[in-house]
Order: sequence, then structure tokens, then C-alpha cells
Amino acid sequence: MPFNDLSLDPRLMRSVQHLGFVKPTEIQHEAIPAVMVGRDLIVSSQTGSGKTLAYLLPMMQRLLKSRPLSKRDARALILAPTRELAKQVYAQLRLFVSNTPLTSALIVGGENFNDQEKLLKRQPNIIVATPGRFVDHLEHKSVFINGLEMLILDEADRMLDLGFMPQLTVINKAADHRLRQTLLFSATLDHAEVDELALALLKTPHRVAVGASHQQHQDISQQFYLADHLTHKEALLRHFLQQSDIKQLIIFTATREDAERLALLCEQLGRSAVGLSGKLSQSSRNAVMQAFATGKHQVLVTTDLASRGLDLLQVSHVINFDLPKHAEEYVHRIGRTGRAGAKGQAISLVGPKDIAALERIEAFLRQPTGFSVVDGLAAKFDGKPKVAKAVAKAVAGKKAVQGKAKAKPVKAVAKNKPQFFEGGDDGLAPVRRKQK
Ligand code: AMP
Repeated sequence: MPFNDLSLDPRLMRSVQHLGFVKPTEIQHEAIPAVMVGRDLIVSSQTGSGKTLAYLLPMMQRLLKSRPLSKRDARALILAPTRELAKQVYAQLRLFVSNTPLTSALIVGGENFNDQEKLLKRQPNIIVATPGRFVDHLEHKSVFINGLEMLILDEADRMLDLGFMPQLTVINKAADHRLRQTLLFSATLDHAEVDELALALLKTPHRVAVGASHQQHQDISQQFYLADHLTHKEALLRHFLQQSDIKQLIIFTATREDAERLALLCEQLGRSAVGLSGKLSQSSRNAVMQAFATGKHQVLVTTDLASRGLDLLQVSHVINFDLPKHAEEYVHRIGRTGRAGAKGQAISLVGPKDIAALERIEAFLRQPTGFSVVDGLAAKFDGKPKVAKAVAKAVAGKKAVQGKAKAKPVKAVAKNKPQFFEGGDDGLAPVRRKQK
């Protein structure tokens, strides 16, 4: 279906043509008609799927076609978790706003509050904002949203992960017009807090889920390397840090202690690095992200905090120093590279503690991953879970004694002293179980 069939305002169509877009992406095809008939929407969407236009186009259409509910109040509010994302959305919005009478403003943290107040005094119709700073302005009464017609949450799951639930609740309460339409976009819908938020914000929403996240990303090459222990992982990391084709690199670790330690290691190897962890305040986190985004640092070492939303073309490599607990998180992490058609490389280090996570990733991707080897750094560890080895040994023992009347297979297991591991849910902290 071409864009022409969506019955969009000619001014919007001109901008679409200017961008050279002919056909809506799958998500646009699903979402735009539903929004245009006035429905609330909950969408599971990946960056790169065309989600921004999936809400910008029908939002603009509504604002162009209907009379404002209030002369003073903002008509549409788009919330994004990070300044980077808010700025990207705003850049796309500007293009669509430019040949219409509508006005817009960008309100994010880290910028002069008074300047923003002046901007808001001009009563922009559409505001793109990060939740924290927007609520500051609401409280200062520099902006009013009682007549808000459209509330759009981009990367809602990430906003919740960053602790913005209180701000979203305040905004939801303030934007209390019964004709408000609400659109919620989230990388995953498999998130208890997103469900809670959707319940609070949306009225009988239409659900859209396209582009299953297990699909392989064409532009990202993925390699898995076995490692015997932490020191071995560090040796592999040193090796990869010497690769000359690294533009920017994100290293993901399981703990913030590792994030700090590995940032130091990168620095020792001449790569300017910065560590990001939940220990930092929101403003320090933003500052770290900003420094990385502007290329001040070549390496960002982080826990899962930065696994979503960051859309930087320069990130050529992602290294999983530890595998994430949840398979979906793996897909988000590696999706920080290979953006907008650029090629990316995702390297994962797999130690004995990562095996359960690897199995979940393989199940999620619906294919075995296979292992690569660095010359001189091959692991002794063969990538098989210890419990599987024990079972194999037990089976072998059982076969050996089959047919012998006195044979006791259970004892044969005990004799072999297999190590049983209870990986727990995350499989990261195996606990040795005592043999009876
Ligand atoms: P997003 O998922 O919104 O970050 O969009 C990802 C990229 O796809 C952006 O560079 C958009 O400009 C581009 N894009 C969005 N819609 C279309 C479309 N219908 N056809 C081609 N490219 C598109």
C-alpha cells in the first residue's frame, strides 16, 4: 500500500515525498490508520522500524484537521526517555511542521530553564520533551496541558527503567481532557510496569506488534567466544580492543564494579573510556551519555542501562563481557550497533557462568550460535553446561553396566562425582549442590 492510500493531508504528503519515502513501513501501515480513527494505541516497536513517523504522521493529521481544545494549552506532547532520542524526534517533527501553521518546541534537561520558559510562553502546539524537565515546567506553570489532544510515549519501557513513573503519573493527571488520545510505544510489551502504565493511561487500546525481535539483524555480525574465567575474558577483551576498525565501542557488563574496572583497562590500552552505572544520578548519567554521543569518549562501559534508545551511527562494535539475563536484552544490546544501514560487530564472551543465558539466547534467536576462537586464546571450557556433562557421563556409565545384574547406575553417577549446578533463574551464579 503506498502512502497515497492513507488519505494524509497534502502538506504532510509533501514532506513524505521530500524524504523520498514511497511505502509505509509495516509498523506505519498498522498504526497510522488506527490512530487516524481516534484509537489509543500500544505498539511494540524496535528503533529502525519507522516508529517515529508511525506516530508523527497521524498526530500531525489530527492537529491539522481538528480545532484546538484550548487556545492556551499544548495540543500534543511527545515524551522520550533521553535527550538524544528527544532531539532525534524533534528533528523529524520540524520537517513536518515546517509547511504547516503548527508550532513546536523541544524541552529537555540540561538546558537553560529560563530560555525554555520563554519558549513555552509562545504556546507551542507540539512539545517534544524528556519527562523530568517537562514536569519541572508543569510545576512552574510555564506550560498547561489540560487541553492536550495527543499524548505520545516513545520508548515507554525505557522511561520506566530510568525511573520516570512518578513524572508520567503527574503528566497523565494533568492532561485530563476526555478527548485525549494516547499512544504508547515500547521496545518490549513483556514488562510488568508497561502493562501497569498502559492500564493507567490508555482507553481500550489497539495493539500493534510487528517485526518480532528475534529476527536476525542483517547489518550486525555476531560472534561468540568461549572463556574459561574472568582473566581469560579480560585477555580476550584486550585482544579485541587492539582491533583497528573500532570507531566507537560499547561494552556491557553484569556488574557496575566490572563497568568501572573495565573502563580503566580500556584507558590503559589507550582507548578513551567512560563507565556508566545505576550508581550515578540521572544528570550524571545524561552527562556520560552526552560525552559518549558527542565522541568525547571512544568506549562506553555499562550495565544494561544503555542497552536501548542510544542511536549513534559511530558505534561500530558491541562487546558483551557478560551475557545478559534475558534473551531480549541481548537483542537490544547488539542493536546499539549496525544502525541506519551501517555495519556493526557484536562480540560476546561466554564463560561457564554465561551458559544458561546463552541457551536462552539461542532459543530466542531460534538457532545455535556456534563459537569463534582467537589464535592463542582458545578456551579449555567446551561450552557445554556442567549439568549436561554429568548427565552424559551418567548415561555412559549406565550403558557400560547394562546387562550386569549387580550394576547400580545411580552409584555410577556418584562415583564419577559429577558437579551439579543450580543456575537459578539468571544462570549467572551457579551454586554447587552437595552430593547425597
Ligand atoms: P525510526 O524507527 O523511526 O527510528 O526510523 C528508522 C529510519 O527509517 C529513519 O531513518 C527514518 O527516516 C526511516 N523511515 C521511516 N519511515 C520510512 C519509510 N516509510 N520508508 C523508508 N524509510 C523510512
